[in-house]
Amino acid sequence: MEVSKVRNEYSLSQFKVEGLLGSGAYGVVQKCVNTETGQVFAMKIIEKNKVIEKSMEEQVKREVLTQLKVKHRNLVRLHYYFEDSSQIYCLLEYADRGQLFAYLKTTGAQPEPMAARFFLDTGSGVAYLHQLRVAHRDLKPENVLLFGEELTAKVGDFGWCAEVASEKRLTFCGTLDYVSPEMLFGEPHDQGVDLWALGVLLFELLTGKAPFSMPSKKETMDKICAVDFTFDVRISPGAEELIRGLLLRESSRRMPLQQVLRHKWCDGFEAPVELAVGDLFFES
Ligand code: AMP
Repeated sequence: MEVSKVRNEYSLSQFKVEGLLGSGAYGVVQKCVNTETGQVFAMKIIEKNKVIEKSMEEQVKREVLTQLKVKHRNLVRLHYYFEDSSQIYCLLEYADRGQLFAYLKTTGAQPEPMAARFFLDTGSGVAYLHQLRVAHRDLKPENVLLFGEELTAKVGDFGWCAEVASEKRLTFCGTLDYVSPEMLFGEPHDQGVDLWALGVLLFELLTGKAPFSMPSKKETMDKICAVDFTFDVRISPGAEELIRGLLLRESSRRMPLQQVLRHKWCDGFEAPVELAVGDLFFES
């Protein structure tokens, strides 16, 4: 299995490992520093035999190649990668403030301005992916990483990304709390699954819990399928309108992302630095 024949201008010897950041399905993520430049990275090490065991070669190639070609303030940047016979090493922008998931666990429901910032950051990254006709398909707080004093949110983990050029996808994927009804029903799905997940995210940011979260998987699935959610804390009418516009059973009726990002509730807070429109950028 080879991702590419040409990208081997870097090697492991140039990097010093500083600690384990976590582990994923195919290997570990280490904090490391380039000893020549001092630049810090998160190095994702993908074990090729684990990928081959699960017949996921195409998916992993897609993850690496998708992440390599996107460049946006709200998407975790893959600076470069190299590989040897047994592993692929991905040099990712290092998230010094960790996962949004961990942040929400310690801080709970966010004040509206903070929720709006996380939501707009995430939505802007997703809008950019959608312009490239790529659906993320696994949006959730574990896959949103935080950076710097400002806690800029960036979408990472492109493992489930699929280009949706013409056909709708039939593969079931994602974690239950953020999974859309069409995925649960095994129906074809497209970028609309990300709109649904953004609705779930906004709900969780504002209330401290996911809208369909229940003790058992079966109950959660039933609630998702019935789009059965209620607000047990008070949120502003604009935020509620957005959530209700995104959490709709019919994917085609969900509020389009550009309309979401320009919604009056979002307007009331600091404008996102970059909206996706007119902002396409490919690295050569
Ligand atoms: P993943 O394989 O993407 O699920 O990541 C596994 C673990 O590594 C998770 O706990 C992530 O929070 C962490 N991680 C992944 N990417 C980064 C990054 N760019 N910066 C810091 N931590 C990361």
